[in-house]
Amino acid sequence: MQSGTALVLFSGGQDSATCLAWALSRFARVETLGFDYGQRHAIELACRERLLDGVKALNADWAQKLGESHTLKIPTLADISDTALTRDVAIEMGADGLPNTFVPGRNLVFLTFAAALAYRRGIADIVGGMCETDYSGYPDCRDETIRALNAALNLGMAKRFELHTPLMWRDKAATWKLAHDLGGDGLVDLIREHSHTCYLGERGARHDWGYGCGKCPACALRAKGWGEYVASSLRGA
Ligand code: ZN
Repeated sequence: MQSGTALVLFSGGQDSATCLAWALSRFARVETLGFDYGQRHAIELACRERLLDGVKALNADWAQKLGESHTLKIPTLADISDTALTRDVAIEMGADGLPNTFVPGRNLVFLTFAAALAYRRGIADIVGGMCETDYSGYPDCRDETIRALNAALNLGMAKRFELHTPLMWRDKAATWKLAHDLGGDGLVDLIREHSHTCYLGERGARHDWGYGCGKCPACALRAKGWGEYVASSLRGA
């Protein structure tokens, strides 16, 4: 258990919901930050409130630790990003080997805004769900990138921030298992029901692993991870 307050990048997706529980199990107080940048899965933002309510209902200690929920609007990101997340175009792989869901530098922008907010609020610990394991090729999710940015933020703001990425070396199945370790079936069910992952922003169809189109890369990854998690927990692993 660390003292002090953590700021969690909280989009309302599976990864950030798991990071929220991770932070609540380690820090005395936890604030959350979501970004509104015109993403077409803006439904994620609506999921945040339901997840926060659910987390509070699940655990009285967590309810007492949860502090402010912040939202920052950065529409500029949509203005400069001609990608599948912010424009109504099909998700596909580009010639550079990156899916066109890649918003260039998005996590650099998110973490820099998070650090600026943390600075103002006297917070040193920042938690994000960046992950290199189920790596879609997004270079701003790599551990090396996060460590370099951590150093740049510390220099540029004359602070000693610590960027925590608890999912960095976990695949999606391991992320479900982490949620179970932190909050049992209650947390797994809450994340399954109320977190949002689908790039297309679809909530219509309910699958074993939650809601989504079932076809986009994010849904496919979540479905695969859920299948592996269920298989391994049935084996008692
Ligand atoms: Zn989808």
